Amino acid sequence: MSSPGASAPTGPPTNTSPIKDAVSKADNASSGFLSSLGLGPENPYFSAGFGLMGVGIAATMFRMVAKHSIVLLERRMLVNCEFKVVDPSYTWFLLWLSAQEKAAANNIPRAVRWARMHSMAVQTDEDERAFNFVAGQGNHFFKYQDAWFRMRRERETRSVNLNNGNPWETIILTTLSKDRDLFPQMVQEARNYVESGTRGKLKVYTAWNTEWRQFGNPQAKRKLSSVVLAPGVSERIENDVRTFLSRKEWYRERGIPYRRGYLLHGPPGSGKTSFIRALAGELGYDVTVLHLSQRGLMDDKLTHLLANLPPRTFVIVEDVDAAFSKRIIQDTDGYQSGVTFSGFLNALDGVVSAEERVLFMTTNHIETLDPALIRPGRVDTVELIDDAGPEQAYNLCMLFYGEEKVDLGHNLRDLVQEEMRKGHRFSMAELQGLFIKTEADGVVEAAKELVRQKYHT
Ligand code: ADP
Repeated sequence: MSSPGASAPTGPPTNTSPIKDAVSKADNASSGFLSSLGLGPENPYFSAGFGLMGVGIAATMFRMVAKHSIVLLERRMLVNCEFKVVDPSYTWFLLWLSAQEKAAANNIPRAVRWARMHSMAVQTDEDERAFNFVAGQGNHFFKYQDAWFRMRRERETRSVNLNNGNPWETIILTTLSKDRDLFPQMVQEARNYVESGTRGKLKVYTAWNTEWRQFGNPQAKRKLSSVVLAPGVSERIENDVRTFLSRKEWYRERGIPYRRGYLLHGPPGSGKTSFIRALAGELGYDVTVLHLSQRGLMDDKLTHLLANLPPRTFVIVEDVDAAFSKRIIQDTDGYQSGVTFSGFLNALDGVVSAEERVLFMTTNHIETLDPALIRPGRVDTVELIDDAGPEQAYNLCMLFYGEEKVDLGHNLRDLVQEEMRKGHRFSMAELQGLFIKTEADGVVEAAKELVRQKYHT
């Protein structure tokens, strides 16, 4: 029932606001306009377009949600481990992987089983006699101890290591979180593998720009007893080095730089270098060999090199006399080094960031060395490593011909003694050369002939 006086509604329902009203009018107008263009809801193509757009939006949203869920899921369930090219573990890992391939080729059980590889890289053996295929750039999958791993090898194309020209590479291993404990196990296995190959061997490093690089393959260690020095010398130096190496805490507590310097002087071919290498091997150390007249070596690089030594190495600075005549470093062919005498002293005194520093200098002419060099902290121990003395000749002879040739040893010892009285000398290298090419019964005669040739007697 309508109340009297109320007029019946004639327009749109009264519950619409003026704004909505206006919007709906505009809508009507536009839909009228679109309809007049044939694009109204009655147009099946137009509504199909809207439909498709809806599907597209839904698909995009679904993709985004899926992507985020995968990232979230990955974060929760997977774990990554990165090996960077600058870290030693990178090399261990690749060498170990290539060893797995070799094992497979020889029907030896291997620790790693690959899914099919699509990208491979060639890796040449250390002795360059064989080559192996290892995983190249990109993604690979392998199984290690019943767990699956994804290996991604990435190369940074725009930057290279300026020191050696190698590209920056990273290997990223991914596995399920529950298998994360296998990472340390795998790295340890790789490390053990590499170390077992170099155990019993001596690594030699040389300076390459501002870094130390391994020079050639590790060499078989030489027995310390095979370098025959004058009685007591070898033991004296060995004891000194051993004592030093056992006193790390002592140095630290007193705030003294933990380093020790040795100067071995004497004529060429007396065994200076051989002794240092053999001693390093005996004590489980490697060696770094530094040539001060090396081209491109400058004071600042030298300081950097001496402060950043490879772990567990003895430094050998050979022929410091040749380097420092008149405080200018000169090569045998006249090349003047970029290292100055004061630069060398500074580098010797510089901060030692390495664990410890055991530095050996060798020289054939100690008398030409500047006294500033032979100062505690730079050189703590000076030892003469001389030409063959009678005892050395005897011991080397025993080493070559065996203990049963005692008489021969005595004859040789007497000969050396007699020649020494006349001022004649044999270097140990000369004796070695003689022993290598002469049968036992011809040695004494060959030694006399050597004296005749050398001293024109
Ligand atoms: P240096 O450094 O004094 O010039 P090296 O260590 O280079 O001498 O020796 C040269 C060669 O002579 C090496 O092959 C080494 O085996 C041999 N030699 C030299 N001295 C000795 C020694 N004292 N005992 C054994 N071999 C020696």
